[in-house]
Amino acid sequence: MEPKDTKLIFVTGGVVSSLGKGLTTASIGALLEGYGIKIGMLKIDPYLNIDPGTMNPCQHGEVYVLEDGSETDLDFGHYERFTQAQLRYGNSCTSGKIYETILRKERNGDYLGQTVQIIPHVTDEIKRRIFVAAQGVDILITEIGGVVGDIEGMPYLEALRQIAYERGYRNVLFIHLALLPFLKAAQELKSKPVQQSVAKLREIGIQPNILICRTEVPLEKGIRDKISLFCNIEKNAVLEERDVTTSIYEVPTALHKSQLDTLIFNHFNLSYARKPLTLWENVMERIKHPMHKVTIGIIGKYTEIQDAYKSVIEALRHGGIEHFCQTEIKMIDSEQLESDNACTPLKDLDGILVPGGFGSRGIDGKISAIRYARENKIPFLGICLGMQLALVEFARNVLDHADANSTEMNAKSSYPVICMLEQQKQVVSKGATMRLGAQKCEIMPNSRVYEAYKQSNISERHRHRYEFNECYRPDFEAKGMHFVGYNAQSKCVEAIELPDHPWFVGVQFHPEFKSKPYQAHPLFAHFIKAAINNKH
Ligand code: GLN
Repeated sequence: MEPKDTKLIFVTGGVVSSLGKGLTTASIGALLEGYGIKIGMLKIDPYLNIDPGTMNPCQHGEVYVLEDGSETDLDFGHYERFTQAQLRYGNSCTSGKIYETILRKERNGDYLGQTVQIIPHVTDEIKRRIFVAAQGVDILITEIGGVVGDIEGMPYLEALRQIAYERGYRNVLFIHLALLPFLKAAQELKSKPVQQSVAKLREIGIQPNILICRTEVPLEKGIRDKISLFCNIEKNAVLEERDVTTSIYEVPTALHKSQLDTLIFNHFNLSYARKPLTLWENVMERIKHPMHKVTIGIIGKYTEIQDAYKSVIEALRHGGIEHFCQTEIKMIDSEQLESDNACTPLKDLDGILVPGGFGSRGIDGKISAIRYARENKIPFLGICLGMQLALVEFARNVLDHADANSTEMNAKSSYPVICMLEQQKQVVSKGATMRLGAQKCEIMPNSRVYEAYKQSNISERHRHRYEFNECYRPDFEAKGMHFVGYNAQSKCVEAIELPDHPWFVGVQFHPEFKSKPYQAHPLFAHFIKAAINNKH
């Protein structure tokens, strides 16, 4: 079972969370891929949920959907945007999944009378999952969620210690990413919290090989020497990672400059000539020298945390990168659009995007924004709930059905343009039961959507329960709505557009999950192009 030749990198976090560990882990992946190395990514989340699918995006950021329909943490978005790693269900390991497996085995009697314990049963299951993820790749990079010292994380660290012991020093590398706080009053970087978090790792038997210090100010020699001595880490392996100022896509190049790649190769006894990261340098060139600028409004309801719309925001930026355009993003709380001066926040926008969402809060504001985009010919992209509401808006204001709605918002609507298919109505449990993951879709020729994709057969990721109610289609078509994407198998509408508008597109799927900085998703690229044209 154990893929003997795969080298293993474990990334832990210290002092505080929200240090950008996911981003750094993804950037390490990008850095190694630059050398032609086949990498795998695994994320360990010590919480007891099976997956984040049922979590509120305000607390945990967006739910990121993989090709196979797995609902994962937003860090998977970083992994896919930065690397080519194949990610599926097994690349996400949560305590929920570990305990689910163990409890099922216990009920089956698979433990043959033993007492089931954290050590060895939980740790063995953790190791098994790490080795499965390591199959078929040269280097597996595993990020351990949370902060060293969290009670939930202890069994994972014990499992990692065992792996390091069993596999040998040269096959396993520990990178610890910790906050090195700068105290303004003392005008000094303080190393004690870093020392203590490394001490916590050593307590369990893990000696980090590389320490990445997240700092606001440069790491001077004195403090580097001190950290090196007290943390038992070679001086050249104590790296600084300053906050990037221009774009997160600078991180792979910054890590390359700090010689992280050389340190990794030396540790594993691998030899590669140093190479520039052309792909990422090109991306940065485009970001640093824009020729255009557009402002796009995202009309959402989880506006208090930007991470709730992470992939949409990044995909908009990618669309900009493609056209040498700086994309400024304005988060607009849809409830704000429900008052009297409703449309004021929309006035200066070059494009309007209504993203996915659930439940009825803020719906009327989103509908007002869609109406504004439709009537004022502002480029519009509606994603999932955004497409559904574009159809509700059209039904209300063009087809004159004031009561039109989705049955998610009003089960008694007399014109329920969006509703649940029979199969979904049978579903009772909430976890992983939506229409999820990659599904095929056929695009009609001579449409804006076709112009973007330049092909008729596409596949995109889904995450929803409700669909357009086909019986109303003739009413919509009679008034100029075009249904341009269709899933022949499920018979569901996948894409709509208005031909008499500069660019008004709605899609039932989530294109944002497949966009990369060096290869913008075609719909986002065309949306931004329409926004640039709209300015001129
Ligand atoms: N709430 C809608 C549905 O379940 C849309 C979901 C979404 O936008 N992801 O169909």
